[in-house]
Parts: sequence; C-alpha cells; structure tokens
Amino acid sequence: MNTVSSRGTVTTLTTTQRKNASMCQHEPPCPTAASADREAALLVAHHPEQGWSLLCNGVLVFEDTGELLPDGQIIAPHRPLGVGQVVAAA
Ligand SMILES: [Zn+2]
Repeated sequence: MNTVSSRGTVTTLTTTQRKNASMCQHEPPCPTAASADREAALLVAHHPEQGWSLLCNGVLVFEDTGELLPDGQIIAPHRPLGVGQVVAAA
C-alpha cells in the first residue's frame, strides 16, 4: 500500500491566521476584545429578552454589565452607580 501524501491541494483554514477575526468592517474599526474600551464596539446582535448582546469584536455583554470575552474570560458586572440610569426591571 503506497501512502504517498499528495497534500499539494490542502491549503485549508490555516492560511490566514489573524489575531482578531476580521469580521469588523466598520470605519473606524471597533476596538478589539482585548482593549479597555471593548464595549464601544458596535452591536451585531441584541437579545434583550435573553439579556445579552453580542458586540462586533465577539464580546458578549449581559444586561447586568457582565461580559464574556471571545477567549472565555469573564468580566464581572460593573454596573455604573449613580448615573441616573433607570432600571426598567421591576
Ligand atoms: Zn466593527
């Protein structure tokens, strides 16, 4: 049995290894998930009925201001106090 690998055609998924997924086509580009102002990224999905939003940089923001980063890191809620924000949940 001759198992000569002819892998010349296997130019698969590892060709472009970009650090941050280049899904962002906004101008200016959204801050990355690693940056401090990650919350400034634009919303790409908003599910208030489920209590979360997905930002362009892959960060999940929950309604309690907690965050889940694309690498699995969890940011504790940091709800701003005294900003006069009306909490609609009774
Ligand atoms: Zn973007």
